Amino acid sequence: MSNSIELLKKIMTTNENFAIYLNEIINYKSSFDHLINEYKALFKDKDEIIEEYKHIYDDKSLKDLLQIIVEFNDKVANELYQNCSHDFVNDMVDIDPDRSEEITYCSKCDLHKKEE
Ligand SMILES: [Zn+2]
Repeated sequence: MSNSIELLKKIMTTNENFAIYLNEIINYKSSFDHLINEYKALFKDKDEIIEEYKHIYDDKSLKDLLQIIVEFNDKVANELYQNCSHDFVNDMVDIDPDRSEEITYCSKCDLHKKEE
């Protein structure tokens, strides 16, 4: 029981990190695309390289992959939430320097308490 909770938490963390890095890759790619357009002269004789690059790293595939990871993680979170014998605790989190908000999360699965 607690083993499966640990496993589901590990899957979630791995997927969250994957999504974070994929987002960074998407942002870097956008910068790189901008540079390629800005400095076309540097790639004048390298059309085939640019074509290959665009083929390998097309925006749609990267965004589809990110979507798949996010949806998969929603399902894992749901599975985790339903299988944990929760131990909810209250905590204060800062939303900005002047305001904080009370949150209720589980000390075992780390998930926030859902509204009843
Ligand atoms: Zn829990």
